[in-house]
Amino acid sequence: MHSNSSIYVAGHRGLVGSAIVRALESKGYTNLLLRTSSELDLRNQEAVNDFFKNHAIEYVFLAAAKVGGIVANNNYPAEYIRDNLLIQTNIIDAAYRTGVEKLLFLGSTCIYPKFAPQPLKEEYLLTGSLEPTNEPYAIAKIAGINMCQSYNRQYNTKYISVMPTNLYGPNDNYDLTTSHVLPALIRKFHEAKKNGQPVVEVWGTGQPRREFLHADDLADACLYLMLNYEGSEIVNIGVGDDIPISELAELIKTIVGFEGDIVYNTSVPDGTPRKLVDVTKINGLGWKARIALEDGLRSVYGMFLENELIAKK
Ligand code: GDP
Repeated sequence: MHSNSSIYVAGHRGLVGSAIVRALESKGYTNLLLRTSSELDLRNQEAVNDFFKNHAIEYVFLAAAKVGGIVANNNYPAEYIRDNLLIQTNIIDAAYRTGVEKLLFLGSTCIYPKFAPQPLKEEYLLTGSLEPTNEPYAIAKIAGINMCQSYNRQYNTKYISVMPTNLYGPNDNYDLTTSHVLPALIRKFHEAKKNGQPVVEVWGTGQPRREFLHADDLADACLYLMLNYEGSEIVNIGVGDDIPISELAELIKTIVGFEGDIVYNTSVPDGTPRKLVDVTKINGLGWKARIALEDGLRSVYGMFLENELIAKK
């Protein structure tokens, strides 16, 4: 990949895609192709084929996907399996037909078996049944990984797949009904402080442990693997360390400067007790996460405040 290689980042407005664009730009890549979903409907095979035919694309970061929390996945299962299968199939196949040099496909750690041992090793994929609530999404993602592997085997392509752990960063989802715990707590503590509320409610017991990777670290890893990894085997991307939700809540409380109390609402389920990936493989390839959680939290809270100011104007 050279500074003027033609690089298509699919899904460039999302948490992952936008981080990949920032990483590419900061490293001096100037020839980026970006299309919003209204400019190019990735579910439309003809449109995707035309797009690839009309642009001599050399590298693809496939970060476009229909994503959402447990409620959305549960309510719209048909859309999750259909849209994800269409998006990834259209892009992977068009990439092959137009001779794309290399493609990176974004998997997700929620596609590992529900009861896989922790930390999650790459070889656990397809060794057990999935979490039923996001099975349609997971099966689509697994199909994408298998499609990359099958194209590599039959057509000699260089398509790699990565498995990012829980992410946070700029362009995250702060909607309290659909967001993940980290942005939800930033918003809850911020609003409690602003409104002078005495307590913030944290769901569950606070005991489950989660790993949090900053999207800029993920993007850095994706670039690193695009340049340094060739293989069909999936690669986990994570920090290799997790913390209890209670500790996350305390950290966010301090950063936001909320002085009230935390209450745990144990009527909300805890979910999986632990979610952590094994990062032996990516560390062995020469990459390690760099952004400490506390620094990452300070930076996303800073952006959250800026966005609030912009929204008021
Ligand atoms: P998960 O990693 O797929 O379980 O998804 P979440 O990020 O939504 O939840 C992680 C953990 O944080 C669960 O144990 C939740 O019960 C807990 N949690 C605590 N407070 C909140 C909150 O305000 N929002 C969310 N989404 N989760 C919370």
